[in-house]
Amino acid sequence: MRRALVCGAGGFIGGHLVKKLKKEGSWVRGVDIKEHEFAPTQADEFLLLDLREPENCKAALSLADGTFDEVYQLAADMGGMGFISVAECEIMHNNALLNVHMIHTAAKMGVLRYFFSSSVCVYRDMQPGEPELTEDDAFPAHPDNEYGWEKLYAERVAMAYGRHYDTNVRIARFQNCYGPYGTWTGGREKAPAAICRKVAEAEDGGVIEVWGDGTAIRAFTYVDDLVEGIYLLMHSDLEGPTNIGSSQYVTVDELVETVIEVAGKRIKVKYVPGPVGVQARNFSKARIHSIGWRAKVSLKEGIEYTYPWIETQVKAARDANSTV
Ligand code: NAD
Repeated sequence: MRRALVCGAGGFIGGHLVKKLKKEGSWVRGVDIKEHEFAPTQADEFLLLDLREPENCKAALSLADGTFDEVYQLAADMGGMGFISVAECEIMHNNALLNVHMIHTAAKMGVLRYFFSSSVCVYRDMQPGEPELTEDDAFPAHPDNEYGWEKLYAERVAMAYGRHYDTNVRIARFQNCYGPYGTWTGGREKAPAAICRKVAEAEDGGVIEVWGDGTAIRAFTYVDDLVEGIYLLMHSDLEGPTNIGSSQYVTVDELVETVIEVAGKRIKVKYVPGPVGVQARNFSKARIHSIGWRAKVSLKEGIEYTYPWIETQVKAARDANSTV
């Protein structure tokens, strides 16, 4: 039986990945600095560890016999643009530490395969209508934010260990991911979750505020599709960073309209200044498509799976507050 370690298993994508690996028959250890907030872990074993400390990386990777076949490194101090735009020092400090210590320890301990979760934040800003960028176009580097710079550095650290040790390194650059069991409030939530929350909180006929002017272009990837891509990439021969994401590009305004339609409410939108991030995105998926992966879930379907979960969280929080 394959043994897999998932770092960041108490988080959104890590939690979904644990479920996928269990379904595929692996023995899974999850590790995180905190428990999963929204669902009990499905890992065979779950350790609470701060992976910024090298001895904790060693503890996470230690088994009574042998070595992990696979390590999935998804732990990160991260959030949506609201968080990324202010927590620059925390992001640079915490993520660099845990990424450097994890790959170093994993390679030294003889892990066979190592997955690193990077981001399309490594790319420069784009204008609407620009031709797509391939993975190689991340250089010359000009990420829009410090989160992207740290990811680029961590990619290179992981690739260097891949060249000098017997560890096969796989790197995915994720596009915006959304789905149930992700952060939906508190300041770290990403755009799809934030908009679902605002619509769920609003009265029918009410108004919600959205950052920017609605014209920024994004592609949103449903979490089941992303996890499928991680699994395929990890077990493929594809070396080097690989974009994973939906090819359905939409404006923020279209995202908002989709959420409103799924909610079945009449809501007006007021655009207000805020940290929007880049203007446009358009990335090649040729590499990940070459191993047979395609995003299957449309934005509308994904929001139909996500909105009811966030609506339930909003109602539960409201009920809890009204009984205090
Ligand atoms: P998340 O915040 O839900 O999960 C990250 C987890 O890492 C959290 O549970 C957090 O507690 C844990 N963590 C943070 N610091 C830690 C530490 N010092 N020790 C141990 N655990 C620690 O985020 P997510 O959306 O699941 O993202 C997973 C990975 O994918 C991250 O590397 C993120 O940068 C990357 N990514 C996510 C998206 C997205 O849209 N969600 C897009 C691009 C890249």
